[in-house]
Amino acid sequence: QHLSFHGRRALVTGAGKGIGRAVAVALSRAGARVTALSRTAADLESLARECPGIEPLCLDLADWDATEAAVGAAGPFELLVNNAAVAVLQPFLEVTREAFDRCLDVNLRAVLHVSQIVARQMITQGTPGAIVNVSSQASQRALRDHAVYCKLKYLSVMAMELGPHKIRVNTVNPTVVMTDMGRINWSDPQKSAAMINRIPLGKFAEVDDVVNSILFLLSDKSAMTTGSSLMVDGGFLVS
Ligand code: NDP
Repeated sequence: QHLSFHGRRALVTGAGKGIGRAVAVALSRAGARVTALSRTAADLESLARECPGIEPLCLDLADWDATEAAVGAAGPFELLVNNAAVAVLQPFLEVTREAFDRCLDVNLRAVLHVSQIVARQMITQGTPGAIVNVSSQASQRALRDHAVYCKLKYLSVMAMELGPHKIRVNTVNPTVVMTDMGRINWSDPQKSAAMINRIPLGKFAEVDDVVNSILFLLSDKSAMTTGSSLMVDGGFLVS
């Protein structure tokens, strides 16, 4: 039986490319009313052509005030996927202030902020909700050059405090996926072979592997699951 999100309103951040775009399309095809938030207008235009009915929201999440205004006006939503992120990989000793600030702004602060705006609206509406954060295997294991990748740690507090409002908060932690982000960081065959060797299933994740886990955690099929972290890593963490 396929998951249905009929009549649900969903916000997907970072929906212009890669995993976020695929999540937006999958949710829309499963009946949700999807708002696709991203930074590059051309990506959102092509997404709206591919999947009519998706509402584009062009915004740089690093801008706190613009986010407050635009996300506030676009809601309310019952479903939120915090997917947008930047990956600036630098060796620890070469991390720059600019890279650190950018990662903090987009990967940490914007997740908190968008979740606040959406959760407040859920609470005002009195509707149950589900939030899925896209983190990474890098949040669980030390990975070379990932010092400032800044993947999320405060999510269990969100789950604890929002649970009484019937808002579930879960996280998916993918291994490498060959999206634009994956290609920039993992195209070197030696580097990628070394990573694949550490993955028991012997391969990187496909976009659909991540999308399926996100949809499960958004859906009522996971109604009793909150505060959990689902690895989509082919076993990397246990290897
Ligand atoms: P992509 O780089 O392919 O896509 C990211 C999307 O997020 C783009 O549409 C991008 O827009 C958007 N975005 C980035 N910054 C902002 C911002 N400030 N405001 C609004 N939108 C923004 O990434 P992936 O699809 O690969 O990654 C999706 C998620 O999965 C991320 O959270 C990533 O950390 C995580 N992940 C990815 C892995 C991988 O190997 N690919 C592995 C593990 C986790 P634009 O291009 O216009 O900036």
